[in-house]
Amino acid sequence: MDDRTYTAQALIDLADPQAVIAELCNHMLEHNAEISGEAGDVLLRLSGCSARFSTEGALTRIDIEAPDFEHLYFARLTVASHILEFAEEAAPAICWSGDHDDAARPPNFQILTVTGCMDVTPHMRRITFRCENAARFARLDALHLNLLIQQPGLAEPQWPFVGTSGIIEWKRPDLKPSLRKYTVRSVDLATGQLDIDFVLHADAGPGSSFAETVSIGTDVGVLGPGGGGLADADWYLFAGDETALPAIARMLENLPADAAGITYLEVSGTAEIQNLHKPAAVDIHWLIRNGEKFGALLVEAVSATPQPQGDQNIYLWAACEFAAFKTIRQFARQTWKLKNERHLVVAYWRDGKTL
Ligand SMILES: Cc1cc2nc3c(=O)[nH]c(=O)nc-3n(C[C@H](O)[C@H](O)[C@H](O)COP(=O)(O)OP(=O)(O)OC[C@H]3O[C@@H](n4cnc5c(N)ncnc54)[C@H](O)[C@@H]3O)c2cc1C
Repeated sequence: MDDRTYTAQALIDLADPQAVIAELCNHMLEHNAEISGEAGDVLLRLSGCSARFSTEGALTRIDIEAPDFEHLYFARLTVASHILEFAEEAAPAICWSGDHDDAARPPNFQILTVTGCMDVTPHMRRITFRCENAARFARLDALHLNLLIQQPGLAEPQWPFVGTSGIIEWKRPDLKPSLRKYTVRSVDLATGQLDIDFVLHADAGPGSSFAETVSIGTDVGVLGPGGGGLADADWYLFAGDETALPAIARMLENLPADAAGITYLEVSGTAEIQNLHKPAAVDIHWLIRNGEKFGALLVEAVSATPQPQGDQNIYLWAACEFAAFKTIRQFARQTWKLKNERHLVVAYWRDGKTL
């Protein structure tokens, strides 16, 4: 990495700059941004980047600084997309000047090629992909990606490019692929390949259908990685349904051998149980849904778990259907009173809807 700073600037015409910038700053505070200054000259810092919002005549000037081009890309994307969102119908034209690379595609985009496919269980299909850059997904804080699933019957795939506004655009927005989030189950740096485990579910959307009908040699675009990693703890509680099974399995494999805790995995039937590598002192409880409501057994098991007492550093990680996610998150925050850095509870999908 070089020592130089990468910069971008934009002058934009906002009808109500103070309101839009205040809303942007409030939103970014939830992502742990640091904000300083006052209306007319506000400085926002996050992830090694800064964005200054000042006034130039009747216009708002934005100056971004970042340690490398990829950070600059994400800073521009984040600022532009939130300004467009918060300005609503008064959305201004945004055109960045400053540093740029000549690649038309987003720096976190790559094309994977399907090289293998096997059924791990009747409803879990493992697909192997060759990557342009597998190393990007090698770490636990790089666990997830967005798969770009092309609309059926297209002669040419639609790949994303970065517009002058810094936002991802499509040559034919009407043919834009469907984006679905998946977990990288494993990475093989020697062969440059990665595995993703797909749940084959009823009411199949683009993700499940892709896995059901995939053929070797298919190219698929991905944006990523994303994900926050796993905190160090003396004792872990993991809870998830089959969509979270790949993430939990990968985290269990990567825990230190002396890690302790409990894992609850809810699956549709006994045929979905997998043999997972885990530290000896982490117990796995398989919860068999047998047609019960999605996530109900997880909620029951998590709520009945006695909270470890004393000075133990606890970490609770859960991902599941939306309704169960809400109850488990409330349990983590209100019953166990875990601080933000001691839990991560996420909805991985929503029954009857596309998230
Ligand atoms: C960070 C993250 C990581 C994820 N990792 C994985 C992973 O590794 N493997 C994986 O399989 N999924 C994973 N998921 C979940 C996956 O993104 C969703 O299940 C997604 O909805 C699947 O897309 P789809 O196109 O098949 O269905 P959609 O088009 O999204 O939905 C169509 C219909 O199917 C229903 N549906 C969606 N998922 C399920 C399900 N699992 N069971 C039953 N009905 C469902 C919806 O409610 C809807 O009615 C992850 C999600 C997140 C947020």
